[in-house]
Amino acid sequence: MYHGLAIGLDLTGALKYTRHIQSQRNTLLIELSNYHTFGFRNHAARVIQLQQLEQLPVVSEGPLYILGEGSNSIFVEDFAGTVLKVSLKGIEISETDDLFRIRVAAGENWHDLVTMLMTKGIYGAENLALIPGTLGAAPIQNIGAYGRELAEFCTLVETVNLTTGVVSCFTATECQFGYRDSLFKRAEMASELITYVHMDFPKHWIPQCSYGELQALGSTPTAQQIFDKVVEVRRAKLPDPGKIGNAGSFFKNPVIQRRHFLSLQHEWKDIPCYPVDEEHVKVPAAWLIDRLGFKGKTIGGVACHLSQPLVLVNQAEGTGDELLQLARNIKQSVKKEFSIDLENEVRLIGKQGQICL
Ligand code: NAP
Repeated sequence: MYHGLAIGLDLTGALKYTRHIQSQRNTLLIELSNYHTFGFRNHAARVIQLQQLEQLPVVSEGPLYILGEGSNSIFVEDFAGTVLKVSLKGIEISETDDLFRIRVAAGENWHDLVTMLMTKGIYGAENLALIPGTLGAAPIQNIGAYGRELAEFCTLVETVNLTTGVVSCFTATECQFGYRDSLFKRAEMASELITYVHMDFPKHWIPQCSYGELQALGSTPTAQQIFDKVVEVRRAKLPDPGKIGNAGSFFKNPVIQRRHFLSLQHEWKDIPCYPVDEEHVKVPAAWLIDRLGFKGKTIGGVACHLSQPLVLVNQAEGTGDELLQLARNIKQSVKKEFSIDLENEVRLIGKQGQICL
């Protein structure tokens, strides 16, 4: 990890960003429905939009929550602190004989970047088309889909510490990428704001089309065919947050011991699984939730989506309490029937910050 190295930024030797006291509106209650895709009409005490690193704010009052496009965060009640919305923009592309090298600012939209790379003939991210959210959010949970994940091409993540203003760079190894996991999820990283993500895409592109729906493309599809198929499948399966509030998959797909799986198979003959390693398998959370009859189940204005039960939706001005109730019912039922602990993939934000189910 490098401290104080500000790649590509005109800091002329500075080791830190100077932080500015923003005029923080003390009149409470900025409505948040447009700041998170679940659309609950909860409020925050303050919202600050970060468009340039030179405007890094000093937040002295109350808790702070760093937000991208709000596609993986749900404000389940009024938040008593400051929401820092990261809107840093910029994409730099260079190349070597073998690689395309990309450096992207945290506020850029992930899918827009993938689309742009496709038009430039830069391939590798096509399996991750239509994953919602920003570049800044991508390394935190090491986004992945259809057999590919960010960790395969992410080389460096730049951050700035919101308490000290110190700039750092984390190599891919230091990021500790795992299955939908990274260093940036740890509590000690709470003050690190991701500012830029670096990725390398080999010019020699190899397709990844081993996952269900992609197998139909055969063994030598083009990157464009993979991109189009992923977009088609996701559009058909997942509700559009522009039409119905949601935050994508609500729960993670659980990884369980193989012997636990074999014992479940006695009772649930058709339970699916995918190998992880010799001792573990991954079970689709959607199958567990569906089997317990939650598809279409509603509590107030919140529902378990009919075609993808892993997605909970805000279909009629629901509330955070209704969402928590439905999510807890699902979690408890899965625990009771399958002895599996479902973990939420989305971040639930309460009055003082992140809360647990
Ligand atoms: P899906 O395709 O029905 O898959 C459900 C689960 O089965 C996932 O855990 C998936 O593994 C696993 N799986 C399916 N086919 C597999 C194969 N051939 N080999 C190994 N594992 C296989 O899931 P979905 O909910 O409709 O989502 C589609 C894709 O988008 C999945 O790859 C999912 O992981 C991804 N996704 C990513 C995010 C994110 O990055 N935040 C959020 C939502 C969905 P994987 O988990 O390894 O894919």
